[in-house]
Amino acid sequence: MNQNDFIKPGDTIKQNEKQLMESPEVEEIAEQVIERENLDFGPAEIGYFLVYPNLTKKRAAKCIKATREVKYYSGNDYLIEISGEMWDMLDSKTREMLVYHELLHLDPVYKSKKQEWVFKKRKHDFGDFYEINDKFGNEWYKTIQATVSSLYDLDPKDENKVTL
Ligand SMILES: [Zn+2]
Repeated sequence: MNQNDFIKPGDTIKQNEKQLMESPEVEEIAEQVIERENLDFGPAEIGYFLVYPNLTKKRAAKCIKATREVKYYSGNDYLIEISGEMWDMLDSKTREMLVYHELLHLDPVYKSKKQEWVFKKRKHDFGDFYEINDKFGNEWYKTIQATVSSLYDLDPKDENKVTL
C-alpha cells in the first residue's frame, strides 16, 4: 500500500515543488547591463530563471555553474536564478543591480595552453562586489533585504541574512 491510497477526492496535496520559469524579462535586463558595463563572458551561454515562490526565503538570487548534463540539454554554461515573489516586488533599478551582481559571479577563463574555456565562478569581494559598491553604493542591496524581509515577515535580526 502506498501513501496515495490515503488521498481522498477534495484533499489538497502538499506541493513542495518550486516552479522554475525561464525569464525573457531578466534576460533583457542582463543584456542591457552587459552592454552598459562592458562585461565580457566570452562564449559563455547564460540561462535566466525566476523560481516561484522563492529559492529559499533568505536567498534572493544565485548563480550556478551548469553541470555537464545541463549544458548538454540547454546549451547553457551558467544559470542565474532569482526568487520570483521578491522579483515581482522590486523596482526596475533594484532589479538591474541584482542582475548585475549575479552576472559578476560569472568568471569564464580561457586556458590558452589547452585552448579551451573553463567556466568558473567568482566569489564576492565582501557581501557584494567592489565595482558595484564603489559606483552604485549599497542602497539597492538594503532594498532587496527589506523587500524579502517584509514579504516573509522575517525577524528584523535576520534581515542581513538575505543573500544573493
Ligand atoms: Zn552574490
